[in-house]
Amino acid sequence: KFITFEGGEGSGKTTALRELGSYLDSQSISYMITREPGGIEISEKIRGIILDTQHTAMDARTEALLYAAARRQHLVEKVKPALDAGVIVLCDRFVDSSLAYQGYARGLGMDEVWNINQFAIDSLMPEMTFYLDVDPQVGLSRIAASQEREVNRLDLEKIEFHHKVREAYQLLAEQYPCRIITINAEQTSIEVVNQLIFEMEKRVLK
Ligand code: C5P
Ligand code: MG
Repeated sequence: KFITFEGGEGSGKTTALRELGSYLDSQSISYMITREPGGIEISEKIRGIILDTQHTAMDARTEALLYAAARRQHLVEKVKPALDAGVIVLCDRFVDSSLAYQGYARGLGMDEVWNINQFAIDSLMPEMTFYLDVDPQVGLSRIAASQEREVNRLDLEKIEFHHKVREAYQLLAEQYPCRIITINAEQTSIEVVNQLIFEMEKRVLK
């Protein structure tokens, strides 16, 4: 099973995934947690290029293509083999991130970005996607309060950009109600994780 986690800045995906992992450990369920862009050496290097705060001149299409390239390599090298071996793959971000950030917030168009990603993913889509929904103001103040997260090029964007990202995710959730499950990420992380476990038991762990 392929399950992806989406959300804006400070939505708590990484924390929720870590806690969900401990739960799956306690149930002896085999799973793999990975992230995009990254997860393997080549894609982590591409991540470094995209997110470098020095790279303010990066063109939006270049950015979209790099995300798609990182995604392709990660899928082929890590995600696909794990899925083939029957492992539950939990992935921090996937195509919906590109649709929301590059397609909608950067204005490239969701259809255009979908098309280049089709080339990258070759129709492999997640069975289920959790969208952690948070007000950008709340998300950004969480990030400001945490020492864990590294500064990246996206931190230079204005709040309006992050509002657009949220709007895009909400549109996607409406468009794909069977795949995308919206979780209110303004709750405590315990409440968020309990909801994730509940939905997973209903749909994939049974
Ligand atoms: O989820 P994570 O915080 O690791 O993402 C790293 C950064 O990459 C974030 O600032 C995120 O907004 C950005 N990003 C992006 N477009 C994507 C995927 C991630 O701008 N398609
Ligand atoms: Mg994160």
